Amino acid sequence: MSTYRAYQVTGQRQFELVERELAAPSFGQVRVRVLSCGVCHSDVLAVEGQRPAPEKPVVPGHEIVGVVDAIGDGVHTWKHGDRVGLGFLGGQCNECEFCRRGDFVNCTDQPKPGTSDDGGYAEIVYARASGLVRVPEELTPTTAAPLLCAGVTVFNALRATAAPPGALVAVQGLGGLGHLGVQYANKLGYRVAAIARGAEKSELAMSLGADHYIDSAAADPGAELDALGGATAIVATAASGASMSPLVAGLRPRGQLVVVGVAPDPIAVNTADLILGGRTIVGSLTGSAIDNEDNLAFSLANDISPMVEVMAFEEAPKAYERMMSGQARFRVVLDIAGTTR
Ligand SMILES: [Zn+2]
Ligand SMILES: [Zn+2]
Repeated sequence: MSTYRAYQVTGQRQFELVERELAAPSFGQVRVRVLSCGVCHSDVLAVEGQRPAPEKPVVPGHEIVGVVDAIGDGVHTWKHGDRVGLGFLGGQCNECEFCRRGDFVNCTDQPKPGTSDDGGYAEIVYARASGLVRVPEELTPTTAAPLLCAGVTVFNALRATAAPPGALVAVQGLGGLGHLGVQYANKLGYRVAAIARGAEKSELAMSLGADHYIDSAAADPGAELDALGGATAIVATAASGASMSPLVAGLRPRGQLVVVGVAPDPIAVNTADLILGGRTIVGSLTGSAIDNEDNLAFSLANDISPMVEVMAFEEAPKAYERMMSGQARFRVVLDIAGTTR
């Protein structure tokens, strides 16, 4: 095979299925034959033209599972046939100030697969070796893919909190991130409160491992958390700053609100809620490749898996629409190599 197929996008939502020439990976890179690729809300950066040069085509997709197919010069730790993953951060440079301090997620020279570089809506992806994640064979490609971005985002957000086992931890939102967040929080040994809009989501929350369900459409979620004794940590996944504002009052003293949901509007916060009790609001940005290996190992050991809607590679533009509709339960995954057929 000397060519491969890719769905590239130009401007805004102009998808095009193209044939590309297969090339040897450059220095420090590997070539990966893609098995599956999750469709994530951050794909808007590529598909809606929210990137530096939208007139230049790019292949979206950053929840990639595949098999190493060719190895570039300077790569020593990967071999042909290795099962690998690639997430939102495409591999640290190991040279910038933040890398030298060991803060790899803040590397200033890191490719973003599916935004700055071609991603996984394709049969082939080229990846920087430092961004690769070892994917256990026991995880199917369509299960592993959403764990590489949605999964590690909530897993690392929970790990970043100082909440001890048994503490009350809340997960706000029960979508793509939240339905995983409740599972992780439960398996990490927390007493879990799930917060979402509507009484009908209670059953789902409980089935995912929540101990309490708070309907934020019916009651003030901050007051409800306070009534449960206050949360040591809250992971906020909803794409709304306004919906996060009342949560701060539901934190215990020294409690942390960890923000992972990107919202167009700001969080309004009462200064007294921060000062009295020393509460904090922090952001958390996905995780590094090795964080993702921790995440996959933990997910496998604890039977954590995303609920997915699988679609064929040829349906990539439709899969993106489906994700954007907000109706998907809960992550859309492209089965690029037909492993589920
Ligand atoms: Zn993502
Ligand atoms: Zn760096």
